[in-house]
Amino acid sequence: MQDSWGRNIDYLRISVTDRCSLRCCYCMPPEGVPLTCHEDILRFEEIVRIVTVLARMGLKTVRLTGGEPLVRRDIGRLAAALKAVPGIETVALTTNGLRLGELAADLVKAGLDEVNVSLDTLDPETFRIITGSDGLDQVLESIRVCRRAGLPVRLNCVPVSCGSGRDRDLADIAAIARDQDIAVRFIEMMPIGPGADLASYRQDQLMDLLQRRFGPARPSASHPGKGPAVYYEFAGFKSLVGFISPLSHCFCDSCSRIRLSAAGVLQPCLAYEDGVDLKSCLLEGGGRALEQALEKALSAKPRRHDFQDRGAAGRPADRRSMSGIGG
Ligand code: SAM
Ligand code: SF4
Repeated sequence: MQDSWGRNIDYLRISVTDRCSLRCCYCMPPEGVPLTCHEDILRFEEIVRIVTVLARMGLKTVRLTGGEPLVRRDIGRLAAALKAVPGIETVALTTNGLRLGELAADLVKAGLDEVNVSLDTLDPETFRIITGSDGLDQVLESIRVCRRAGLPVRLNCVPVSCGSGRDRDLADIAAIARDQDIAVRFIEMMPIGPGADLASYRQDQLMDLLQRRFGPARPSASHPGKGPAVYYEFAGFKSLVGFISPLSHCFCDSCSRIRLSAAGVLQPCLAYEDGVDLKSCLLEGGGRALEQALEKALSAKPRRHDFQDRGAAGRPADRRSMSGIGG
């Protein structure tokens, strides 16, 4: 699958629900967001049909996300069905980790290839401030369970500026990659939803504070996974430290992904609301209509995001929530 800018598109993020068990301050307001009603959420069979058509066109990787994907009942069944689609090589998951410990064995059995766990802090009080929950120990235990189950784990940290001793806290998260074979990635805050009003560390600031603590870093030749992270090696580390920095180090030129919302809208780019409604194509019978809709979405994929221009252009703030888009 090629878009009109010549990029190869082979990666689909699937939001399986817009519901979530947490209220991360940069993602969802404490009172929550308007939710898609249950009947409008794509059924597993519909997701598999869409992925089957996309896989015939060249899709290779799917990532289950949300909202929190592990609040969707029977998610292992979906992972197994997607893994069985001809052409799909990798089925991955991004989760807040709360229910991961209890579901890890089933997910491994279903054929899940890898999991990204969101972990923004190692301090229980900062965890409560960021997520509105006391679940830090549960998330850490989930990571241990995955490791024991042989499921590859990477950590995603949004370095939002909050809580006390944050420099040390963020370096402690990076130190997980020193002590264990778990890559840690820092994701720059994007101006979407509540994140538009919050400050976060930038890549160069983080690099400074990590190098002060761990010594010089050098760019890594290896690249775990297929995402846009850029990785660095620190001497003595068992794994890599990565940065996903769409604002300070834009990676749109090599973007390979599209997104499917819980309600069945295929969104060519994270930064824009435009999308193609695949749910109605399915209701019309799928087949050629679905293929044409997919082609339309691909040809409409913008060249790059407009995050930097938003303030200058006086555009209204993007009040969507990342929980609805799938990150
Ligand atoms: N609930 C799951 C989780 O938290 O991993 C999956 C969905 S969540 C929307 C996917 C990713 O988006 C998470 O790593 C989260 O930290 C990130 N995210 C949410 N809002 C963001 C924002 N405004 N800027 C950058 N990343 C954000
Ligand atoms: Fe939920 Fe993930 Fe958003 Fe946090 S980042 S509120 S866990 S969807």
